[in-house]
Amino acid sequence: MSSGMRSARIDVDLDAIFHNVSAMASRAAPARVMAVIKADAYGHGAVAVAETALAAGAGSLAVALVQEGIELRRAGIEAPILLLSEQPEHQIGDIVSHGLIATAYSVSYIDALVRESRARNVAGQEVHLKIDTGMNRVGVSPSRAVEHAGRIAASAPWLSLGGVYTHFASADDADSTFAVEQWQIFRSALDDIRGAGIDVGTVHAANSAATINLPESRADLVRIGISMYGIAPSAVLEEQCQDLRPALSLTAGISYIKRVPAGQGISYGSRYRCPAETTIVTVPIGYADGIARRSGIAGVEVLIRGRRHPIVGVVTMDQLMVDVGDEEVAVGDEVVFIGRQGGEIITANEVGERLGTIGYEVVCSLSSRVPRVHAQL
Ligand SMILES: *Cc1c(COP(=O)(O)O)cnc(C)c1O
Repeated sequence: MSSGMRSARIDVDLDAIFHNVSAMASRAAPARVMAVIKADAYGHGAVAVAETALAAGAGSLAVALVQEGIELRRAGIEAPILLLSEQPEHQIGDIVSHGLIATAYSVSYIDALVRESRARNVAGQEVHLKIDTGMNRVGVSPSRAVEHAGRIAASAPWLSLGGVYTHFASADDADSTFAVEQWQIFRSALDDIRGAGIDVGTVHAANSAATINLPESRADLVRIGISMYGIAPSAVLEEQCQDLRPALSLTAGISYIKRVPAGQGISYGSRYRCPAETTIVTVPIGYADGIARRSGIAGVEVLIRGRRHPIVGVVTMDQLMVDVGDEEVAVGDEVVFIGRQGGEIITANEVGERLGTIGYEVVCSLSSRVPRVHAQL
């Protein structure tokens, strides 16, 4: 990248993404793979990740927002793109004109889709019906699934029921009882729809965790997100994700070094006091970049010269401090927040665990102020 780039950067290893998609695709086969690239591909860069996932064998993509789908279309991506929930009615025109697949679970929304397709004289707008089997976020209740599927099917030629799906609430748990329960509720709703003589199209349910942990739920298609980025869905599944490779690394360079006497406080509020004379280094990355302000208080570590060192004091907006003890370091030395250095690795899940959250939130929180650099395949 240009010499004008700041030291903080995110490197995305597209080879790792390719490897992970291939690995998950062979695990899921004969089910097909839909690559979930909402939220800028979990902070990894949507267009580069989408192209890589498609090259690695994914047959379709999923996003959360209409804008995210449009970004992919503008980049020339022609693969099927599913919106994972109903979107504001005023965006239905964009859904139709960009050829995005709508998700529906309410009568008014189905009717709005019909109106827009008819007004634009575009037949065959693909719609997937989402059934809520226990997540209690969005989706039609199983008892009304037939009615909704029937309404979509009866809206031919304007709409076409391309699929029926559900989403698991806890497929990443050690105990799969609830996931199995959701799967059974879903299967019985599918039976009802088929029993009414309606073709359900593509059946899908599994996220990454269920693809790994609940093989019977792979159905026609698996919707994989987190595993594609080489991050285990939960600590419980870490073991089964050994074949996946983390794709994202977050690094910056030391900008300033000083010796600090015992008893001195570090950063706002002096929340950390140096127990002995030590070397404190400053790194030009902060909470505006997505490093949680409480990282130093929560025990988050970084790698410098292959060794772990703690972030100390509260993280400020643009800079943070690390206590390197008596280690010899130099301005410009690489500081790894997520990724490998020497024989050590810090994973997004490790950072998440220290912060009381999950790897998903850690990578999604990295702001657009940090440049993404994509190593080409
Ligand atoms: C985000 C999402 C996924 C992907 O889940 P992962 O745990 O990242 O694999 C799949 N399906 C739906 C409906 C989602 O919202």
